[in-house]
This record gives sequence, structure tokens and C-alpha cells, in this order.
Amino acid sequence: MHEFGIAQAALQQVAAQAQQAGATRVHRIVLRIGALSGVDPEALRFALEVAIPESSAAGAEFEIETVPARARCQQCEREFEPKTGLFFECPHCQALGGTLTQGKEMHLVRLEIS
Ligand SMILES: [Zn+2]
Repeated sequence: MHEFGIAQAALQQVAAQAQQAGATRVHRIVLRIGALSGVDPEALRFALEVAIPESSAAGAEFEIETVPARARCQQCEREFEPKTGLFFECPHCQALGGTLTQGKEMHLVRLEIS
């Protein structure tokens, strides 16, 4: 389960940002996970519950925002929600090869520190 590694990496980032801001306490961590990022939000939630108390962000609450996948068709330029797979088929004109515009993100969006 690679979500533990992701939780550790996120908490390292949290620690670095808190330190940079001169904060001593982390109150809230907000992460954003795209539907196609390959991260299971439930597994990540569990990993964070385990990892936070042992990190410098002990006592912090966290939130995981999930972002649906979006793709833009290269043919008709309309946006649609792609199904998982290597090729995204446009539901409007059936062209293959839409460009993913969101859904692969996995990052820290907000941090409440003091
Ligand atoms: Zn299209």
C-alpha cells in the first residue's frame, strides 16, 4: 500500500512549510487527490490517521478533497469526464486522445498553522 509513503511525503512537506513559516503547531492539513492519481482516498485517510500523531503535525486535523477527472477533446475542444484508461474517448464526437486537464493531482492545498 503506497499510501503510507504518500502520507509520509505529505507530512514532510507540511513540516517543511510550517518550519519555513516559523509555526510551532499545525492545526489543519488539506490535501487534494485526483480521481486518476492512483491514490485511494480511504487508504490515504487511514495512513494519515496513523502517521500524523507520530509526526511534527501531531494533533492536526486533515481533510482530503477529491477531484474528478476532466479531459478536453482535441477534436471538438469540449470538456468531458474521461473513464479510466489509456485513451480518453470524447462522448461528443467519439474522437480518441483527449488531453487530461485535471484528475492526476496529488498535493497539499492548504495548511493552517500557528
Ligand atoms: Zn470531441
